[in-house]
Amino acid sequence: MPVGTQATVKGLTQRDLAEELDVRILLANTYHLFLRPGHELVRRMGGLHRFMSWPRAILTDSGGYQVFSLSDLRKITDDGVTFQSHLDGDRHVFTPESTVEVQMALGSDVMMVLDECPEYPVSHEYARESMERTVRWARRAFAHWRAKAAGDQSLFPIVQGSMFADLRRECAERLVELAADGYAIGGLSVGEPRPLSFEMVEATEPFLPRERPRYAMGVGMAEELAEYVARGVDMMDCVLPSRNARNGYLFTSQGRLIIKHTRYKEDARPIDENCGCYTCRNYSRAYLRHLYQAGEMLYAVLATRHNIRRYLDIMREIRQAILLGQFPEYLRTVRAVPVEVE
Ligand SMILES: [Zn+2]
Repeated sequence: MPVGTQATVKGLTQRDLAEELDVRILLANTYHLFLRPGHELVRRMGGLHRFMSWPRAILTDSGGYQVFSLSDLRKITDDGVTFQSHLDGDRHVFTPESTVEVQMALGSDVMMVLDECPEYPVSHEYARESMERTVRWARRAFAHWRAKAAGDQSLFPIVQGSMFADLRRECAERLVELAADGYAIGGLSVGEPRPLSFEMVEATEPFLPRERPRYAMGVGMAEELAEYVARGVDMMDCVLPSRNARNGYLFTSQGRLIIKHTRYKEDARPIDENCGCYTCRNYSRAYLRHLYQAGEMLYAVLATRHNIRRYLDIMREIRQAILLGQFPEYLRTVRAVPVEVE
C-alpha cells in the first residue's frame, strides 16, 4: 500500500495512481486527517473516497502510531491517550471508541484499532503491560464498532508485544478471539535490528488464521518485501518508496540507485532498464539527476512514480512466483541482488 498521509501520495495524482500504476489500495493517516482538515469536514464532503476522488480501497490507521511518534506531552491511561497536536499544541484525546468513530466518518474500507506502539527497547514488564492494554483497547474498539452495525467497513486488531516472542504469541491468541476480517502485526521498524523484526513476525504468524489477511505495519525496504511474504505476510505499507524517491534513492531490479552520484551525470539509460513505468520509458538518469540537483518539482513526481511502480512490480512478481510454485527460487534470486546498483 502506498502511503497517502494527508489523503495524497505526495507528487502523484489519483489518475497516476489508479490508471498508470494500478494501485488497488492506499493508506491514509487518521492522526493527520483528524487534526487537519478534521474528520467531520471529510464526512460532510462525502467521505474520504469522494473528498480525495479515489474510487478504490483505502485503509486508515488508528492514529496511535503518530500520537506516539509525533505529538508532544502524550499521556497514556487505560481509557486512552491524551496528546497535544504537533500543529498547534491543542489537546486531544483518542480512545478506542473515538478512533473507530473518526475512521467511520472518514469512511475507509479497512479501519485499525487504537493500539500502543512501545518504543524500542522496553522491558518485558512494560511490554506486557502495554500489550495487555492493547488487547483491552481492541476489545473495546470491536464492541463499539459491532454495536454500530458498521456496514461494509472492516476493522483489524493489531498484535503488539515489543520484541518478546511469548508476548507476541499471547497477544495474537487473544486477538484471534475477536474473529476479525484481518490482523495486523504492529510495533515493527521502531529501531530494532532487522533480523529481530523478522523473528517477531515468525513468532506471531502461526497464531493468526491463514485464511485472513495479515498486515505487517510500516515495513519494509524493497529487498525485504519477499522476506515478509515468505513469513506469511499479505499486506504492507511503507513511506519508503515515496519518501526515498524524494530524497534521491531509487529502487531498481538491480539494487538501489542514488541519483545524485556523479557517475549518472551523462548516463542516458533509464533508472531501471527492466521497468516499464512512464519515467523509465521517457527519461534518462542524466535528466533525473539534473532535475534533482536543480531542486525541480518534476524530479519528485517522476521519481515517486518509478519507486511506487517498482514496489508494485515486486508484489506482482511475488504473486506470480507463488502461483507458479516458484517462490523459493524467486526468494533466492532476490537475496542475490546487491543492495546498491553496481
Ligand atoms: Zn521505472
